Amino acid sequence: MNLIFMGPPGAGKGTQARQIAEKYSIPQLSTGDMLRAAVKAGSEVGLKAKAAMESGGLVTDEIVVGIIGDRINEADCAGGFILDGFPRTVAQAEALEVMLKERSLKIDHVIDITADSEALVARITGRSTCSKCGEGYHKQHKAPAKAGICDKCGGALATRADDNEETVRNRLSVYEAQTAPVIDFYKNGGSFKTVDGMQNMDAVFQSLCDILG
Ligand code: ADP
Ligand code: ADP
Ligand code: ZN
Repeated sequence: MNLIFMGPPGAGKGTQARQIAEKYSIPQLSTGDMLRAAVKAGSEVGLKAKAAMESGGLVTDEIVVGIIGDRINEADCAGGFILDGFPRTVAQAEALEVMLKERSLKIDHVIDITADSEALVARITGRSTCSKCGEGYHKQHKAPAKAGICDKCGGALATRADDNEETVRNRLSVYEAQTAPVIDFYKNGGSFKTVDGMQNMDAVFQSLCDILG
């Protein structure tokens, strides 16, 4: 099963992709996570991506298409994968079509998770993530039992440098200008669905499971 999770920053793509990945035993391919790892490692890709990520702009199509092309060749993607945060431009969606065709693959579901822009700002500015296991938290909606500590593994929670109000507003306008058109790219195909991301996390998960079966 090959899936695309779309939606604006903070909609809940990562939260849901982690759970769906676990339930269906397929990997979550988050370009954001991969790029942050590259920046941390100081690799060539990381050095090229850093400034765009810090300002809330998009990394070049060439870089992210390259990353995804390499990643879906790996053995763990043979049984399917979830694309989380890719494609984010129409050019990326077109490049993905070519990559899929070359590998005789197809996307089974494109799921757009929607949410109001004020809710998105509150979600992103309240977000933290375990630096050890990657579990996501929120200061109001999913607070850890002990401040700053992961409930699951005891790791330290970290906040992203780009999760500040100013950058978030920029990311939302970049989303409207460059990523919202990708919805039209997929809308006419039969595999496009929308899920209301304003529901609580469990209800969003249930809606996704209903679609995926
Ligand atoms: P995305 O990957 O789309 O940017 P995340 O999954 O990281 O979004 O979610 C952003 C923040 O909002 C996180 O702190 C997460 O815990 C919280 N969150 C996710 N889904 C919901 C929801 N349905 N209701 C309330 N908060 C949510
Ligand atoms: P969010 O959780 O807010 O949706 P991500 O973790 O998906 O954010 O992405 C963080 C940043 O990484 C983006 O603001 C952008 O700079 C870069 N990025 C991630 N995916 C892509 C992509 N497909 N194309 C271009 N840039 C990307
Ligand atoms: Zn953890």
